[in-house]
Amino acid sequence: MILGLDVLDTSSTHKDKALFTPGPLNTSGPTKRAMLRDLGSRDDEFIRIVKDVRSRLVGLGDGHEEYTSIIMQGSGTFGVEAVLTSVIPQDGKLLILINGAYGERMLKIVNIHRIPTVVLRTPEDTVPDAEALRETLQSDPAITHVAVVHCETTTGIINPIEEYGKIVREFKRVYFVDAMSSFGAYPIDLNACNIDYLISSSNKCIEGVPGFSFILAKIETLKKTEGYARTLSLDLYSQWKGLEGDGQFRFTPPIHAILAFRQALLELEKEGGVTARGGRYKRNYEITLSAMEAMGFKPYLSSDYRGYIITSFYYPAHPIFDFRRFYELLSEKGFLIYPGKLSHADCFRIGHVGRLHSADVKGLMSAIAVVLKKMKIKLTE
Ligand SMILES: *Cc1c(COP(=O)(O)O)cnc(C)c1O
Repeated sequence: MILGLDVLDTSSTHKDKALFTPGPLNTSGPTKRAMLRDLGSRDDEFIRIVKDVRSRLVGLGDGHEEYTSIIMQGSGTFGVEAVLTSVIPQDGKLLILINGAYGERMLKIVNIHRIPTVVLRTPEDTVPDAEALRETLQSDPAITHVAVVHCETTTGIINPIEEYGKIVREFKRVYFVDAMSSFGAYPIDLNACNIDYLISSSNKCIEGVPGFSFILAKIETLKKTEGYARTLSLDLYSQWKGLEGDGQFRFTPPIHAILAFRQALLELEKEGGVTARGGRYKRNYEITLSAMEAMGFKPYLSSDYRGYIITSFYYPAHPIFDFRRFYELLSEKGFLIYPGKLSHADCFRIGHVGRLHSADVKGLMSAIAVVLKKMKIKLTE
């Protein structure tokens, strides 16, 4: 017996908690098992897998030959930082449309790198106004790049990226979309939206494990950015050149996360692609919403802004409601929900994404009813 290695249990006999969060999410058994390998980063097999993953990713974005995909080590934020610091020239200027925490995070990134930036800030319960975008571009010709979040995971609001993209195209500016929490579950036509850079990550709607972000980039725009990078490790252009050249990463790749991701991509195709996956998430959302409303909870966003990725609910207006306790009692029952992230309202969030089906959602809804009873909270008459 070697050093007690036999105690390593990879068969997972216990059931993990159901994650009603925006990611990392529950993944399938085959996706987890795809990681039980040792592959060298310069191995031909691995290089072929990376190539396959990259071409499948481009296929998901309805982008065809005009786009390429670049895998970047690190979580989603590393991908956002890679784009923001790699493609804006020294004399460039960025406009960020902000209506939540992830838009604010982009601003933090560019401030650290001292990239000249203006923002158009909108309250978290409304989408940025397209006319205000047009006026800002008209009045400030120095703006070269525009950035926005598609699904602001802060609230679950869906921003109209196609409408903004048409305006950005009119002014011939470069357009970034953080589609981290929506890509793979909302169809995104890269051409119709005029997207130059779309950013997402391995552990959201594709249902892989954490480990990397990926960027879908319009080749024509990306080609012009050689030498723009302000960091070494997040240099998007060099990363792309490496992957296009000998197919290798410049630095240690997240091999296991990529193996899992390829399996997750195959499962996405088997499920019926982006539309079918979006359909499953939408059903999860609808079951959640109707059961929560029946129990007396109120969603934060008005219905025209709500998406099917994640929903924010107000804390119930009940004197003894304690979110911490609510959360812990649900966790004991095997369900993890998500705290809120709003600046001005007390909310919690329930995600609809990941390897969760109607039965899991109904399980959470029954658990919430039981927990409210246990907390002696009655919200409806
Ligand atoms: C998850 C997410 C990110 C990235 O978060 P990481 O924790 O760095 O993976 C960025 N933007 C949005 C909209 C997200 O939902």
